[in-house]
This record gives sequence, C-alpha cells and structure tokens, in this order.
Amino acid sequence: MLNRPLSLLLVIGLGLLLLWSQRDRAASEVTRTALIMGTLVEIKAVGSDENKLEDAINNAFDVMRRVEAEFSPQVPNSAIARLNQTAETSEIPSSVRDLVELGEQVRLESNGAFSMALGGVKELWAIETENPQVPTREQLEAVLPPLDSPALLLDGLIARRSSTLVRLDLGGIAKGYAVDRALEQLRDRGLRSASVNAGGDIGVLGGHAERPWRIGIQHPRKQGELLATLEARDQAIVTSGDYERYFERDGRRYHHIFDPRSGQPASGCQSVSVVAPSAALADALATAVFVLGPEAGMRLLEQRSEAEGLIVAANGEAIVSSGLKERLQWR
Ligand code: AMP
Ligand code: MG
Repeated sequence: MLNRPLSLLLVIGLGLLLLWSQRDRAASEVTRTALIMGTLVEIKAVGSDENKLEDAINNAFDVMRRVEAEFSPQVPNSAIARLNQTAETSEIPSSVRDLVELGEQVRLESNGAFSMALGGVKELWAIETENPQVPTREQLEAVLPPLDSPALLLDGLIARRSSTLVRLDLGGIAKGYAVDRALEQLRDRGLRSASVNAGGDIGVLGGHAERPWRIGIQHPRKQGELLATLEARDQAIVTSGDYERYFERDGRRYHHIFDPRSGQPASGCQSVSVVAPSAALADALATAVFVLGPEAGMRLLEQRSEAEGLIVAANGEAIVSSGLKERLQWR
C-alpha cells in the first residue's frame, strides 16, 4: 500500500498529465490546400484527432470537386453543359435546381444585375484564357440574352433554357455553393471548428478554439494586403473584385464581372464583400452588388436583413452596411 501523501501526489500527477494531454489534443489544427475550380482552396480544421481532421478535409475537397464537375459548363455531359447544348428540356439534379432557384431570387432582387445566362459574353471576352480580347459592341449585342427572363424555365426537375441566347454560367454563385457543401461535409464528419477559403470566398464552421474566426478582406488595390478584418462564427464572407481575373489593354482594366445590359465589365466598384449565413447567397449577392454599383448595391444589401456588406467604389471610397459598421476593423 502507498502512503497517503504519495498516493495524493500520484493522483494529482495523473490529473495534470491528463489535462496536459487533452490540452495538447484539443489544440490540433490541420491546414490543407488544393486547386479546385481554378482557385487555390484552403481548408483549416481544428479538433483533437489529426487523422480524423485530415480525412474530413480530403472528403470536403472531394465534395468540392464534385460540385465543380456538376456545375461546370466545360465538363462534357454535366447538367449545365447538356442544357447549353439543346433547346429541348432535360432533367437536372435537385442540387442544380436549388442553386438555380437561389440565383433566380437574386436576379429578381437585383433587377437583372445578377445573371446566370452570360456564358456567351464570357466566351467572347475569353477572359479565363491565355488570349483575352475586347469584343466589339456588335459582337456583344449578338450574344446578350434577354434581360427580363429567368435563365432557365423549370418544371420540377425538368429544365430548359428560356432562350437559345442563354448560355448557362453559374460562375457567380457556384464557388460559394461549393464552400457551403464543404462545410456541411466537415460538420457531418463531427467537426465543430473549420474554415474553407476558396480564393476569398470564405465560410467558417463554429469558432476558432474559444474565439470567433478572424477573417481578412483583401485590399482591392494592394495585392496581398488586407483592407479590414472581422470576426465571425458560422457565417460566410464572399468577395467579388475586379482584381481577381482581369487583363489590361490600352491602359484599361477589363475584368470578369459583366453588366448584363451591355456585356461590358461593370464599372461601379473595385470590390464588394458580403457577409451572409450561406456562402452561396453571399456569392450571388456580391456579384449582384458589384454590377449594381455602390448606391443601388447598398440598397439591395440593406433590404436583405440577413446580409451585410462592404463596397469599395470605383473611386476607392469604402461604404459599409449598417449592421457591419461595428464589426469591421480597418487595417
Ligand atoms: P464572382 O467572382 O462571384 O463575382 O463571379 C464572377 C463570375 O461570375 C464570372 O467569372 C462569370 O462566370 C460570372 N458572371 C459574370 N458576370 C455576372 C453577372 N452579372 N451575374 C452573374 N454571374 C456573372
Ligand atoms: Mg459571386
């Protein structure tokens, strides 16, 4: 038998050891990156078991790759590619239907500024290729889809383009959706703390240890520098910027967010960051607000009670929605 002081010491020692080991286990954070949807995607996961975190992250990347295949107009036989090839109806997965319905809501709210029908315009600019070019006004007018109709006509899961000028392109909303699906996968795997950053489309699950996640908003004119940060739990922050994909010709910047009325790059903003409960919604709103410009864009954000935003206007002025003012920390 041990004497009392000794056994007490042993118990205290074991207790400390246990505390120490748990503290160590709880502190694990795994960060991985992968190239998906033409973007470097970074996932961070916090938890006690590194192998489990790593597995969950790999699964989340797989989910994002499936979203990429499902929504890319370039992937032959994807639902989007099939619709673009025919004037007839075709059946679509419910995931595509749901996302198209969300996009359609944002199209209506933004008076057509958000459009999932601009694939033809995007192709003319060839903005994502090695040889981007400035199309003529005539060329653009020949491919502009009708302004006041939805991209797709839906009857349950049976869909058809509303016009043959519609070339479906969900590039303004699909990355956010992929972020949501990745977070859902991480949550289903039992994680309670994670972040997914797909090139500035960011979603976070829970907080970061005891604190909220601190999220940085890229400065639209200072590469690699932050404009502001904010704290968030279980939220998404998505940025649309004219610095993301662009080329310059004759001293002008041509970027990838188009005004559906003209097919020209929208000129009212340098960047728009939207905070919302889901990254898909934040993504669509950020693109819509960018096209609308600072005034009409801020009105749209103030109408949506669950969304907040920061607009950097073309002249560099920053405008913040009422619910975000207190939360932003400027850099
Ligand atoms: P984001 O970076 O989310 O603003 O999305 C930009 C991408 O959305 C572009 O690369 C196009 O694929 C697509 N896009 C361009 N203009 C629009 C628009 N007015 N509405 C919706 N999507 C658009
Ligand atoms: Mg967007």
